[in-house]
Amino acid sequence: MSLIDSFGRIHRDLRVSLTDRCSLRCTYCMPHNFDKWLPSETLLTAKEIIKVVEIAVSQGVDEVRLTGGEPLLRPDIVEIVRGISALENAPELSMTTNGVALAKVAKELAQAGLRRINISLDTLDWERFKRLTFRDRYDDVIEGIAAAREAGLDPIKINTVLMRDVNGDEALPLLKWALSENLNLRFIEQMPLDAGDAWTRANLITAEEIFSQLNSEFELTPVENRGSSPAEEFYINGGPATVGIIASVTRSFCSNCDRLRLTSDGQIRNCLFSNEETDVRSILRNGRLAESEKREDIIKALGLSVKSKLPGHGINNPDFVKPVRPMSAIGG
Ligand code: SAM
Ligand code: SF4
Repeated sequence: MSLIDSFGRIHRDLRVSLTDRCSLRCTYCMPHNFDKWLPSETLLTAKEIIKVVEIAVSQGVDEVRLTGGEPLLRPDIVEIVRGISALENAPELSMTTNGVALAKVAKELAQAGLRRINISLDTLDWERFKRLTFRDRYDDVIEGIAAAREAGLDPIKINTVLMRDVNGDEALPLLKWALSENLNLRFIEQMPLDAGDAWTRANLITAEEIFSQLNSEFELTPVENRGSSPAEEFYINGGPATVGIIASVTRSFCSNCDRLRLTSDGQIRNCLFSNEETDVRSILRNGRLAESEKREDIIKALGLSVKSKLPGHGINNPDFVKPVRPMSAIGG
């Protein structure tokens, strides 16, 4: 079975948001005084999440990324990782985290079956970190990165969003640091998904700008065979080290998109920017349905969501409407 949309794109990658809550308040993601949380009773349980993942795997999904909000805020995170890793035909499992709570749990996660990790870090300056995230947790993230390495998670990728007049001058320092630490850095263009509506095109640091900043000191040559990866990868000074740039806004990669999303409150989304969702929570919690009927209905819901996927996100169209959910509640 496979999840093919009307444009022939086969969906193999499921991003699973475990919560919309977070230990940081990154300005590009949510306002510092944000308080519109999803009601806790709507969040899927570990068992429900593992069930949806298992069904998605039976439909051809072979890559699962746990995200949020901050996935490490889930007290049952190790159980979720263990449950997904123990599935028959277990998907390749990774996680995107802000790293704040990673030092305590990295080893347990690795033992439970997590192999790869993406840790978000936008600056190497702890004061800037505090201004950017409204929390004084820079040292915790650095410790989290060390713990991930110690636990054997590999690769460790660092996600960075650059913003003009905030950390826009850190592309080169971050790359030099990542190279010295043997970490794989990826820059992500800032997308209009913040709950505070602070995104402006003028403040967007484009992939082209990032490339020229990096290329001023390093020779960057494209890595071929990008496949469905959102990142354009470049060899640094001939390789083997690489750096990635995710040009979601200025060079969209929608035509090769193979991603589906499950929100923490059990909605399937076929795009970060989608304004439509397909409800699987109500199927999971429908006491009148037998397990086999639930399974069938969830398969149908996945298929319907994929079939209604648009060819592209439309950010650059004049009639673009930003999704109601902020990034923290969609799952990046
Ligand atoms: N809390 C975790 C973290 O920060 O890694 C996981 C969730 S976060 C939403 C996932 C990724 O989305 C992070 O790397 C973050 O930098 C990125 N992100 C959040 N808001 C964004 C935006 N408006 N534009 C581009 N990337 C964004
Ligand atoms: Fe939290 Fe991640 Fe959003 Fe930052 S980007 S506020 S760490 S969910």
